[in-house]
Amino acid sequence: MNTIQHWINGSATAAGSTRTAPVWNPATGEEQARVLLAESADVDAAVAAAAEAFETWGESSLTRRTRVMFRMRELLTEHEDELARVVAAEHGKVVDDARGEIVRGREVVEYACGIISALKGGYSDQVSTGVDTFSFRRPLGVVAGITPFNFPVMVPLWMHPIAIACGNTFVLKPSERDPSASNIIARLYAEAGLPDGVFNVVHGDRGAVDALLDHPGVEAVSFVGSTPVARHVHERATASGKRVQALGGAKNHAVVLPDADLESAADHLTAAAYGSAGQRCMALSAAVAVGDAADALVAALADRAKAVRVGPGQDAANEMGPVITAQARDRVAGYVASGAEQGAAVVVDGRDLRVAGHEKGFFVGPSLLDHVTPEMDVYRDEVFGPLLVVVRAADLDEAIELINANPYGNGTAIFTADGEAARRFQRGVRVGMVGVNVPIPVPMSHYSFGGWKDSLFGDTHIHGPEGVGFYTRAKVVTSRWPHVDRPAGAAFNFPTHG
Ligand code: NAD
Repeated sequence: MNTIQHWINGSATAAGSTRTAPVWNPATGEEQARVLLAESADVDAAVAAAAEAFETWGESSLTRRTRVMFRMRELLTEHEDELARVVAAEHGKVVDDARGEIVRGREVVEYACGIISALKGGYSDQVSTGVDTFSFRRPLGVVAGITPFNFPVMVPLWMHPIAIACGNTFVLKPSERDPSASNIIARLYAEAGLPDGVFNVVHGDRGAVDALLDHPGVEAVSFVGSTPVARHVHERATASGKRVQALGGAKNHAVVLPDADLESAADHLTAAAYGSAGQRCMALSAAVAVGDAADALVAALADRAKAVRVGPGQDAANEMGPVITAQARDRVAGYVASGAEQGAAVVVDGRDLRVAGHEKGFFVGPSLLDHVTPEMDVYRDEVFGPLLVVVRAADLDEAIELINANPYGNGTAIFTADGEAARRFQRGVRVGMVGVNVPIPVPMSHYSFGGWKDSLFGDTHIHGPEGVGFYTRAKVVTSRWPHVDRPAGAAFNFPTHG
């Protein structure tokens, strides 16, 4: 059986690792590979390689860095099929959905191709007599990324192209559940001309993560994953003096007003709730049906949930694959049961779904629960599976209050034909990313991505301009070049005018 290796200093290596974990094929329930789990000595080796590479990469010209990014962009296009198939095999999502994440990730590389513009400083001539001030940004050094299973290509791509284009070197600790895509990315970077040691991959579990969080050679940590781990990463890495951006979990609400096109809203909600088996941080997992919209919306959602084609992601005819593990499947089933016990109406029950020929796969069908209230566990927790709950609200203000009372604040959407309602909503919700008749409002790479409240710990959102700020430090220079014949005088008092 294949054992997936680390990638350190330009080549695949086992380093000193001996522990391994299974990599499942979620569609068959079989173990398809093992992945190495790094010890702290392996993390040391990766950080040391990155630190050495930083000596030259941090001084490389912007032209050289962007040349690598332009080539990387082409390679990601050429290898889209290979990457998509690996993602579908290890994650379980359908191949077309995997292509989608590769394209959205590639857009960050495209932004990094323009890093010369993004890194432009400011210049103020003659701030005092004979004195100019200018600013520029310097890379931090070795930076680390720790990423979740649900977007094994896109989420790491939110981080490393920006970090590397800014002149840093990178150590990635991807999810141990679908690790192979990161090694393909490392190989493509090498092919694109990135020097050895600039991009490294260490596979592992919490031991590798904690070693990175504590490592004195790591300047900054970008994390994306569940809220409890995001909170841990933020606390531990800031305690060791690092910059941290830690993106956490979500409970994304879609508000549907009675004036919305209900058929269209139901189409979008279905795709956004059950696409990728609900395992997206921007999945819509709670529909808030306002006023008269509720009964018709629930009926339209039920029809669509029952019609979702579920099966292995490698089969292009399917719309939804399995969830990531047997535990994840059982967890989703447990939430359907707890919702029912706590008084919700189970309108569509996905627990009994069987996929012929894939009986051991980690499949659970789409579920729809109505009359859900904020006290129920199925509403309070992030389920991260194909389960959509419907909460009923009397009016838009009640819907906004509900969203604002929720501890998460990643994404939200409103479906309406009323501009005033949309504007009230977009200004009033305490959520980082808002869609108006757009179900999954993931910002393009020229903006930054991030939630509020328990969906993000730290000050900066990820990629785009805030990513550039995160991976660099500003420096401001005040300079005077006195005339050789007229040296500038010095004064003991603090300068107040010039
Ligand atoms: P996870 O938190 O279990 O794992 C994320 C990473 O942390 C992995 O690399 C994992 O190895 C590591 N890890 C896990 N437990 C750890 C621990 N106790 N100590 C240290 N490290 C640990 O998340 P997941 O299940 O892989 O991904 C799903 C979660 O990620 C969901 O909550 C989802 O909402 C969230 N997510 C958020 C965003 C966002 O942008 N906010 C994007 C994608 C996913």
